[in-house]
Amino acid sequence: MAKVTFNEERCKGCGLCVTACPKQIISLAKDRINQKGYHPAVVVEMDKCIGCASCAIMCPDTVITVER
Ligand code: SF4
Ligand code: SF4
Repeated sequence: MAKVTFNEERCKGCGLCVTACPKQIISLAKDRINQKGYHPAVVVEMDKCIGCASCAIMCPDTVITVER
């Protein structure tokens, strides 16, 4: 199964990865903020991830790493 990790402190909460994910399993964590003051992106249903890396490619700040 693919594994997606986020360097949360670098995330600016732009939501581009949320839009890019074909499985719609990324969302912004509304319950917390990072040191920059943004809601960081998280994968909410990792078991549905297909490891396509669209999220990592889309992220302008290289926050996301996809392993498969
Ligand atoms: S690797 Fe693909 S399916 Fe998995 S979270 Fe990223 S965009 Fe979504
Ligand atoms: S695209 Fe990158 S910076 Fe934007 S919300 Fe997703 S992880 Fe954060």
